[in-house]
Amino acid sequence: MRRVSVPEADRLIGVKHPVLAHGFVVLVDYMGNDAAVVQAARVSYGQGTKSVRDDRGLIRYLMRHRHTTPFEMVEYKFLVRLPIYVARQWIRHRTSSTNEYSSRYSIVPDEYEVPGPEEVRHQSTRNRQGRGEPLPADVVDRFRSDLEAGASQAYAAYTRALEAGVARETARLLLPVAFYTQWYWKINLHNLFHFLSLRLDAHAQEEIRLYAAEVAKLARVICPVAFEAFEDFQIEGLTLGRQERKALRLLLEGKTAPEACAAAGLPLTREDGRPMTTGEGVEFLEKLERVRSLE
Ligand SMILES: Cc1cc2nc3c(=O)[nH]c(=O)nc-3n(C[C@H](O)[C@H](O)[C@H](O)COP(=O)(O)OP(=O)(O)OC[C@H]3O[C@@H](n4cnc5c(N)ncnc54)[C@H](O)[C@@H]3O)c2cc1C
Repeated sequence: MRRVSVPEADRLIGVKHPVLAHGFVVLVDYMGNDAAVVQAARVSYGQGTKSVRDDRGLIRYLMRHRHTTPFEMVEYKFLVRLPIYVARQWIRHRTSSTNEYSSRYSIVPDEYEVPGPEEVRHQSTRNRQGRGEPLPADVVDRFRSDLEAGASQAYAAYTRALEAGVARETARLLLPVAFYTQWYWKINLHNLFHFLSLRLDAHAQEEIRLYAAEVAKLARVICPVAFEAFEDFQIEGLTLGRQERKALRLLLEGKTAPEACAAAGLPLTREDGRPMTTGEGVEFLEKLERVRSLE
């Protein structure tokens, strides 16, 4: 039995794909491909798969019906270089294996992230965790030069501490989260889809979304059919709660969106009459907008 290989992916192994100023994603290795998903599913379904016409149909069936273990048969290993503030978000994904560069053992390089001027924006009023409208140029410039100055002063202090004999594990406390770290990251396709569904989403911070997009681009080469199903049913799919189903029914019966939302218990206004900017009603309208905007 020969190991599965995808020639296009083999050519990508070891190639650095830049992300942000000093970061990158590298595909280090992989195990399996779309065929491994199909093979596992056919073992578990046996004769049952006869009703499924082809491999693509089977993979799409598995995705729709959340039969997830066949997707666990595919594994990916990446080398990722990323700012510490992005790493803190990434490491929350526990269903993966990580081995990080040790700043107790090695000296942290003098590389830190300074967001581009267009990335420094107002606090978002809609997504409480995100950024929104542009800021005046002088505010942006001040922020970026403060960040530069703070990081270079911090690195100078770090270097002084090391030269004075302070242990690396202690000296690193001087470095802010804009500095970079690096790790190997191994994950199976099922858990990767979960990671991507959260980190490609518009609610995730822009920087981690850039990494997620690069990871997705590489991983897709190995399992194009599974990725197509993931995009069709998870990324582009919609789920509706009970109240949303009721509101949709009322819309189909000819009610306006505010009428349907009010009758279904999806509030669009506050008690004082002001329009809501977040909440179940607003999210339902966003879902309707996604339906309308689909090409
Ligand atoms: C937009 C966004 C904003 C966020 N904001 C915050 C924030 O403000 N503060 C914060 O702390 N975190 C925040 N997070 C992190 C978030 O809460 C999750 O920790 C992170 O997305 C990892 O998701 P996960 O636990 O599903 O993934 P994984 O750790 O990979 O777990 C995958 C799945 O395995 C199961 N699982 C794994 N471990 C356990 C467990 N111990 N118990 C039960 N089930 C388990 C769950 O079903 C889980 O969904 C944010 C994430 C996103 C995407």
